[in-house]
Amino acid sequence: MSGSLFVVATPIGNLEDMTYRAVRILQEVALIAAEDTRHSRKLLDHYAIKTALISYHEHNETARAEQLLARLQQGESLALISDAGTPCIADPGYRLVSRCRAAGVQVVAVPGPSALVAALSIAGLPTDAFRFVGFLPAKSHGRRLLLEQFNAERQTVACYETPHRLQAALRDIVEICGADRQLSIARELTKRHEELFAGTAAEALAHFSTDRVRGELVLLLGPAALRKPEGTVRDALTRWHEETDLSWKQIVKQVAKEFGLPGSEVYRESLELRDKE
Ligand code: SAM
Repeated sequence: MSGSLFVVATPIGNLEDMTYRAVRILQEVALIAAEDTRHSRKLLDHYAIKTALISYHEHNETARAEQLLARLQQGESLALISDAGTPCIADPGYRLVSRCRAAGVQVVAVPGPSALVAALSIAGLPTDAFRFVGFLPAKSHGRRLLLEQFNAERQTVACYETPHRLQAALRDIVEICGADRQLSIARELTKRHEELFAGTAAEALAHFSTDRVRGELVLLLGPAALRKPEGTVRDALTRWHEETDLSWKQIVKQVAKEFGLPGSEVYRESLELRDKE
């Protein structure tokens, strides 16, 4: 009988975000595959987990996946972790997981933190559906081509970005997606200097241009239709209705948030509009 591969999420900054189950699984498996063994040893020491570590990173993924698969097929259970958050989410792991699945080895998720979900959960942008694009391209040309696509985007777009590229990315966003595009930037989540910025692209550029930006961050762009309130509530209702696939209920919620009005007031306005249709 093969062992199981446990894909285990670990904290994105705050060590208390480890789950009980994650600790138990990491104690019980024969071996833990980690991106950076020295980095992960600190986490394991904190929880007195003595299990051996082996490196598994983007430069040895292919060869290592075969070695780990062989051990799983011999009956050992293994865990996969990354430096922070959920493995395979903009992190190594895909190759090992797909090899295991193809070979009929059981792959088990041990869910927990992910910067992507944590940022979405506190940003105040629509999240019924969203698009995740991983890291924005490092070079301006590639970045700008991708940003063009976001001009027709009806969902919130989530990206990872490095602090030293944030200002350049924001300049491109202002130019291509518009100075009034709503966005949020979640920085240093779960850590001492946690910050959630919410505003327009132009406001973000002003906010992050004074200092050298530090720490890790997630950049969230609101749907293209979500702009600073302008015109009347009725204009906004019409724009959301024409430019998105959202239901009237979702539109009313969104417009009420945009204008800071009670939902009932916006709902009444939407009924008049719908009657006319
Ligand atoms: N697999 C990880 C996850 O599930 O969150 C993401 C790995 S990716 C290589 C690392 C990126 O995630 C960082 O560059 C940053 O964009 C984001 N990130 C990680 N930790 C974060 C934190 N505490 N606050 C904000 N963003 C974070």
